[in-house]
Amino acid sequence: MYNNYKKARNMSWEVLLKCGIRELPVDLNAIANFYGIKISLYSDTNLTQLFKEDVLAGDGFIISNNGEKQIYLNNKINNQNRRRFTVAHELGHGILNHNILIVHYRNSEIDSETDLQELEANVFARDLTMPATVLAALNIHRPDEIMKLCNISKKSAEIRAKRMALLYERNVFNTHPIEREVRKQFDDFIKKKRYLL
Ligand SMILES: [Zn+2]
Repeated sequence: MYNNYKKARNMSWEVLLKCGIRELPVDLNAIANFYGIKISLYSDTNLTQLFKEDVLAGDGFIISNNGEKQIYLNNKINNQNRRRFTVAHELGHGILNHNILIVHYRNSEIDSETDLQELEANVFARDLTMPATVLAALNIHRPDEIMKLCNISKKSAEIRAKRMALLYERNVFNTHPIEREVRKQFDDFIKKKRYLL
C-alpha cells in the first residue's frame, strides 16, 4: 500500500514539473492538454445511450477510445471545486496508466482500502492540486485556506489538512529531490503570496 502511495505521489510531482505548473490553483486543463487527454461534458455527448444509469450518476469517468484517453465529466454536479477534484482524479487514472478499458465510476474522494487504483488516483489528485511543499512554504494549515488557495472541495481540503498536520508534526517537507524541484518551480508564486507583491 505504501508503494501505491509513493508511486502516485511521485507521479504528481513529475506532472507538475513536466507541465510547467508554477502557481495555484493548478491548471488542470494544461495538464490534460499536455497528456493529450480530452475532457467532455455529459451534456455534450450521447452518453445516455451508451452507459448505464449507475455509471452516469457518478462524478465522471475516463475511458480509452481507440487509444485516445477521454474524461467525461458529469455537469449536473455543479460544484466547480468538486469537478476539479474529479478531473484530477481521472487524470490520475490516465497518467498512472490504470486499466481504463473498464469504466471506473465510483468516484469517491474518500480512499478505498480495497481498490488500489482508486487509492492511487486520490493520492495523485490531492498531491497534484494541493502540493504539500507549496502549502508548507505558505504555512497553510486550515481546510478553508486550502479550499481558497487550491479551488478544491471542502471534503478534499479537510483530508488534505489532516495529512498536512501529520507532515508538519514530522517536518518532512522537501526531503525528496523531486519535491525540492517542485518547490523551486513555485518560487515566484510563493514570494508573491508571502509578500503580497
Ligand atoms: Zn476512480
